[in-house]
Amino acid sequence: MLDAVVIGGGPGGYVCAIRIAQLGKRVALVEKEYLGGTCTNWGCIPTKAMLTSAHLYTEIANKSKRLGIEISGLDYDLKKIMSHMNRTITMSRKGIEHLLKKNEVDFFNDNAVIKDAKHVLLEQSGEILETNNIVIASGSEPSMFRPFSEVEGIWTSNDVFRLEEMPESLVIVGGGVIGVEFATFFSSFGVKTTLVELADHIMPSEDSDVADELRKSLTRQGVEIIEKTKVTEVEREECSFILNAEGEQELSLQAEKVLVAVGRRPNITEDIRDLSLKIERGIVTDSRMQTSVKGIYAIGDIRAGIMLAHVASYEGIVAAHNIAGDEMEMDYSAVPSIIFSSPEVASAGLREADIDDKQKVKIAKFPLSANGRARTVLENTGFVKVIADKESGKVLGMSIVSPSATELIMEGVVAVRNGLTVEDLENSIHPHPTLSETILGALEGIDGMSIHI
Ligand code: FAD
Repeated sequence: MLDAVVIGGGPGGYVCAIRIAQLGKRVALVEKEYLGGTCTNWGCIPTKAMLTSAHLYTEIANKSKRLGIEISGLDYDLKKIMSHMNRTITMSRKGIEHLLKKNEVDFFNDNAVIKDAKHVLLEQSGEILETNNIVIASGSEPSMFRPFSEVEGIWTSNDVFRLEEMPESLVIVGGGVIGVEFATFFSSFGVKTTLVELADHIMPSEDSDVADELRKSLTRQGVEIIEKTKVTEVEREECSFILNAEGEQELSLQAEKVLVAVGRRPNITEDIRDLSLKIERGIVTDSRMQTSVKGIYAIGDIRAGIMLAHVASYEGIVAAHNIAGDEMEMDYSAVPSIIFSSPEVASAGLREADIDDKQKVKIAKFPLSANGRARTVLENTGFVKVIADKESGKVLGMSIVSPSATELIMEGVVAVRNGLTVEDLENSIHPHPTLSETILGALEGIDGMSIHI
């Protein structure tokens, strides 16, 4: 009898399985396709590998002359960009395989079908695993719906990773994280890119000033951004697509390719439905990641909560500890959200748009243009915004638009998660000259004491 069977080898499932094994329990992991799941194979890793080429290309194109480097004949080779992406994916998959072995997790490359709370069938081999606990970590897939589902050849994010030729033009439907990252990639290489977003602004989960800054830099890179607009019709012509859209005005767009990047839906299969678990948009769990059926846990995208790899992994850690007999609860107070655009965007904790009337807060912003390190690397688009509680001085939220924002945000995450005050952070000496001093500038600004503006 196993202590746990984990279904799905994505960042939720494999992390959970390894932690269960580290806690001395017998665990099996079942993955029907590739280890690493969406994140390693069709998500975080391939996008960032592709964006590395895109960022380097634009850096050289935009900055080399001013930095005294003469480059002639700057060009790119899509085949090599995609080989770098594929190599990164393979290395990541192999790394996970090694970690599973090292931690003595029994790995099955098979489709898992849950028979009941104690039995999981491995469909190809016919073996039945008997277990005390099941962790469902079977992830999500791109959402496709009308009118796009009725037209052949429309891309989802999965199709981009099979790219063989750069299109001349592209309409991306959906201005969230995935849409913005792909707009950054394609526009960097000169693809005529249009980004259509239904909400008031791109990156609707971020504050409007963050979106404004990103809009500026994407527009500078040639991306046409159309907000408050819904694509209502799409038709395929011989070599292109025609899209009709409604917003403040009706428009018609034409492009060689269309990419739909409008969210993902959890992989809820028949066997999961037959368990009579509570399901809303995704599988519902308590704060210990247990579903409404004792001994069955659900983590990651299958919950349709915050669909991010680091959230899936942490939910996996929480589930593992509870399965091993510890008491551990999820805490979503400081989940970092990150976008690998140019410049990058990252936030944690409270957003300005979510402050309610009763909350007494102080807000300060510090521009990147006043930061010495930013000047040395020829960057001036961006800022750091800090939101602090007026009375206690606790840092409640941080938003960053800056190169390396995805790394810098950890200061905000640690502060919000641990109830640190503005003073705590200010009194932690920030190295000079670094972009992290932009955070210091914003912290000082909370009490009107910014030195550098
Ligand atoms: P998944 O990673 O989807 O893994 C689920 C696994 O379960 C899959 O491998 C699937 O094959 C397997 N499976 C399903 N059913 C069965 C079954 N019956 N039997 C056996 N195996 C099964 N997140 C970030 O944090 N940072 C990013 O930069 C980022 N970029 C992204 C970019 C894109 C283009 C996309 C699409 C997503 C991105 N994400 C990012 C989101 C991230 O990939 C997901 O949140 C994360 O992969 C969810 O992890 P998971 O373990 O819940 O599910």
